[in-house]
Amino acid sequence: MKELRGKMRLVGALIVCLFIGLGAWYGYTVYSQGSVWASNPYNTRANGTTAHMGDITDRDGNLLAHTASDGTRQYLTNEASRRALSQTIGDQMGMSGTGVENYYSSTLLNISGSLLDRLRSAFSGEERVGSSIQLTIDGELTAYISSIFPEGKNGAVCLINYRTGEVLAWVSKPDYDPADLLDGSTEGDDIADTAFLNRCLQGLYMPGSTFKIVTLAAAIEADPNVLNQKFLCSGSWDYEGGTIVCAGGAVHGEVDLVTAFTKSCNITFGKLAYQLGVERLRATAENFGFNENFKFGDFMIYNSVFPESVPNVGGLVWAGVGQGEVLATPQHMAMIAGAVANGGVMMKPVLVKRIENSMGVATHTLETSVYRQAMQPSTAELLARAMYETVQSGTASRAAISGYTVCGKTGSAETSDDKSVPTNAWFVGFIRDESKPYAVAVVVEQGGAGSTVATPIGRQALEKAIQVVG
Ligand SMILES: [Zn+2]
Repeated sequence: MKELRGKMRLVGALIVCLFIGLGAWYGYTVYSQGSVWASNPYNTRANGTTAHMGDITDRDGNLLAHTASDGTRQYLTNEASRRALSQTIGDQMGMSGTGVENYYSSTLLNISGSLLDRLRSAFSGEERVGSSIQLTIDGELTAYISSIFPEGKNGAVCLINYRTGEVLAWVSKPDYDPADLLDGSTEGDDIADTAFLNRCLQGLYMPGSTFKIVTLAAAIEADPNVLNQKFLCSGSWDYEGGTIVCAGGAVHGEVDLVTAFTKSCNITFGKLAYQLGVERLRATAENFGFNENFKFGDFMIYNSVFPESVPNVGGLVWAGVGQGEVLATPQHMAMIAGAVANGGVMMKPVLVKRIENSMGVATHTLETSVYRQAMQPSTAELLARAMYETVQSGTASRAAISGYTVCGKTGSAETSDDKSVPTNAWFVGFIRDESKPYAVAVVVEQGGAGSTVATPIGRQALEKAIQVVG
């Protein structure tokens, strides 16, 4: 009997221990996983009955997403504008993972409070009102850029303020209509596979000749006298193990580096990369942010790549002209152009201008900060002049805007070995003006030549930014 009582006491103690353990585990998981659970699209409590998701507005305060009194989430009434902003804003199903609706769901639902708040809201049925988020995005600018993007083509346009790092527009094609997901009418039938991707952040492209900005920076920083060196372009160059040619069968003759840059001479830049060596070229690329683990806080972005090693001369020559294993996102290329404009200083990109809680109290306001010194100010000055010449008399002449100093670089990146697929058309550039500090990156997949296809889009986007961004 005594033995039995002892055993019962032991079992009782064990049950109490398990109960305490379970309670502790519950508390811990609510604390550590609460945001993830609450923002899960399958959590119906969060999506209507108990939470009122906050507003998303653009930089001018225009509503981009809000929750109606019946609890449904509403986006812009104009379908084209809704589509233009689709990947930036995201959707209720979380299909566009980088979208604000998804990435900031815990803020919009106000579930990032204290442990006590979380436990209370987990048990109570009270409606919680989320914080509202004002973005740095200009809705009108974004809708305009989307409207001028070539019909039926895929690609991206990213426009930033290079002095503050603010993202002013992201356009990614194909796009989708978030309202379709809400009413479930299309069940995704008409939505292209990659429409949920924000190509500005998740599109890793070979930058092609826009990368010559980095190669030229590496050369200038290694020896500023390189600008006096002459290179010979006879239309093709046989390096050890392969051949490189200039686009369209061009023969540029004897050229200095700035002339080669304005005409986008592949042979000169291939030779330059060979002369520099892979270590110096990689070191400069890494100063510009290649191979960095990008953690910007306001959004997710893929890392850009410069190869750790090149297997042969060809690998180095092609890296110098932004082909082969070199990969970058449009957002990063806009930041590179912006760093040239900003005296070599690359600003940390920001997407959120202000967060207000349900009482209208600001809990976050825009902070701008330097991300890195990508190059010496003197190098930035020389590059800006070379990019200005490229607009004045080179391949980016279609970027010129009357009354403004526009600097740019084109690219036509090969995506196949046998030229069977049209090149990706690139343009990166900026306005050199303290009051209109805008930089842009454009990529049109399989669009053809950067000079004729991407450059006019870049110019129109910058012109619109001059008009509408306040
Ligand atoms: Zn050439």
